[in-house]
Amino acid sequence: MQTRSKTSSLLSAKAAAAASPATTPRPPLKPKPFLQLNKHATTPLPIQEMNWRMERLTPPPPAAAVAKVALARNSPDAPKVEASPLERRRPAAATVRSKQELPKNPPVNWEYVYDEIKLFRRMNSAPVDTLGCGILASPTLPPKVFRFQTFTALLLSSQTKDPANAAAIERLKTQLPGGLTIESVLEVDVKTLQSLLRGVSFHMKKAVYLKGAAQILVDQFDSDVPKEANEILKLPGIGPKMAHLAMQFCWGINDSGIGVDTHFHRIANKLGWVHTKEYDHEATRKELQQWLPVKYWAEINPLFVGFGQVHCTADHPLCHKCPVSDMCPKKDFKPRK
Ligand code: SF4
Repeated sequence: MQTRSKTSSLLSAKAAAAASPATTPRPPLKPKPFLQLNKHATTPLPIQEMNWRMERLTPPPPAAAVAKVALARNSPDAPKVEASPLERRRPAAATVRSKQELPKNPPVNWEYVYDEIKLFRRMNSAPVDTLGCGILASPTLPPKVFRFQTFTALLLSSQTKDPANAAAIERLKTQLPGGLTIESVLEVDVKTLQSLLRGVSFHMKKAVYLKGAAQILVDQFDSDVPKEANEILKLPGIGPKMAHLAMQFCWGINDSGIGVDTHFHRIANKLGWVHTKEYDHEATRKELQQWLPVKYWAEINPLFVGFGQVHCTADHPLCHKCPVSDMCPKKDFKPRK
């Protein structure tokens, strides 16, 4: 009797709950935040892209196990074992160091490191992606004006951060009568040009170089940027990095040479890809060109410049969360005070 009354009260409570409207509406589901490696992380990606990344990010075998196999293979008594595909791509650190002593040979791990940095850069934007010299001129401009604006951005870029360079180009575009063209640069007086270039390092000299280069372009190259790196290199204020980048950005010619800036020079040396003196960017370019396939020459500049801007910086390289730390001889490198 008691059991029957309990059951009926339970049933009536359930019926009452079902009949009455919900008092508090269920809060909408919030999407989980996307994995952010740093503040520059981009928005979520399509599922195919994420699957591809997860596949690529599968953790490697423990370093100790890889080193043990490598040691065993070096001993004369060791049984001959075929390397797995993963090991072939990712050799033990000891092997990497011995190969790096051969300066003109490609570093054995370079493709793996390149892929990892490329993957990192896909997920982490940097100032060069939005303010770099290659994208400051609008592609809808007449071709000669587009090339001159790109050339100007390159000329101003040495030892200047991308935001300061982009701001100066914007001032030239908006404050020169007629915009940033060869004619307007030739017409404006040097002092006005210098004031428009404030914020750019060595802006006093660069204003003079810009006017001089504009005059040469008018006199010798039909008011256009030359289509030869050697000719661009002869213009005032232009170094090898700018000449090769001008060939890429202005003419789409990627095989004239690699554009090596301070970030690229520093990182290539840290990774052991080259062994060149501090500030000798030209030596770095020549060493890289001895082994890096030409198809990478254009792509590698923005990849490594951005990596140097947001991750492997000169003062605070983020080695503790670096995607290539296990392949980097300068991991935990402490910069000079
Ligand atoms: S491990 Fe450190 S020094 Fe080496 S590439 Fe990464 S951030 Fe730069």
